Amino acid sequence: MTLLTFRFAPSPNGELHLGHAYSALLNQQMAARAGRRLLLRIEDIDITRCTPEFEAGIFSDLKWLGLGWEEPARRQSEHFSEYKAVLDRLIAEELVYPAFMSRGEIRAFIVETEKRGRDWPRDPDGVPLYPSLDKALSMKERERRIAENIPFAWRLDVEAAMARMPGALSWVEFADETMAATHTVEAKPQAWGDVIVARRDIPTSYHLAVVVDDALQQVSHVVRGQDLYAATGVQRLLQQLLGLPPPLYFHHRLILGPDGRKLSKSLKDTGLAVLRQAGMSPQDVRRLVGL
Ligand code: GLU
Repeated sequence: MTLLTFRFAPSPNGELHLGHAYSALLNQQMAARAGRRLLLRIEDIDITRCTPEFEAGIFSDLKWLGLGWEEPARRQSEHFSEYKAVLDRLIAEELVYPAFMSRGEIRAFIVETEKRGRDWPRDPDGVPLYPSLDKALSMKERERRIAENIPFAWRLDVEAAMARMPGALSWVEFADETMAATHTVEAKPQAWGDVIVARRDIPTSYHLAVVVDDALQQVSHVVRGQDLYAATGVQRLLQQLLGLPPPLYFHHRLILGPDGRKLSKSLKDTGLAVLRQAGMSPQDVRRLVGL
């Protein structure tokens, strides 16, 4: 029998809030039956924003909540060479290209295009798609710019990638946390355009690291917030390109703030550390998130 494996994968770039508590506790609840595993993964590839202090806060908040996970937790920043090997495959297969446009250049290009009366497409988060002009650069020009240390990011050529798909691309989504029923969701990675899969100095991005790790850690069930629902399309595409087995997914409801908006790490009043200091118990937190 293959074991069912769940994971909670926070990023130590801020303090955990009630939304994280819900996600972690829901993973724990779904993994609670005998033989199911729960892993903790520290997603700290953004070495400029992630800190050891935030990581220590995650461990202490989760222990306080009563979460148990298999030790040791995987820390993504310790595995850059593994992501680099996967990135090299994508480079060799010409599925990614170095993209040199700076934020300012992207903005200027879009403003110009829209001035001519053409709406520029945006991704499901509302961010304008990358204008894939650098796809046309010759190999020689790419090499010249890289040698000159011009900043760039590796972007997925989503058109080329989709052309290699044998058929429709989809994922399996649970209807609810009972895992009694599933439905199939069509993956639409094109909605995100040519996403970043690695940076010049960091050989991965969130999408690449997440699919590599979910496969490597044999994660069978990805339970995470609804805010990552549409992004699953990009991750399904990467899994398919890399020959990785897709997990099953459940994207849970989000815990909203008093203003009805998604919680963010900058909203201190719903931070677990603050609630803890204010005398709240783990039981109070469970009640607050509806568990
Ligand atoms: N590290 C991501 C976050 O904190 C979650 C990734 C995932 O669950 O796939 O938002």
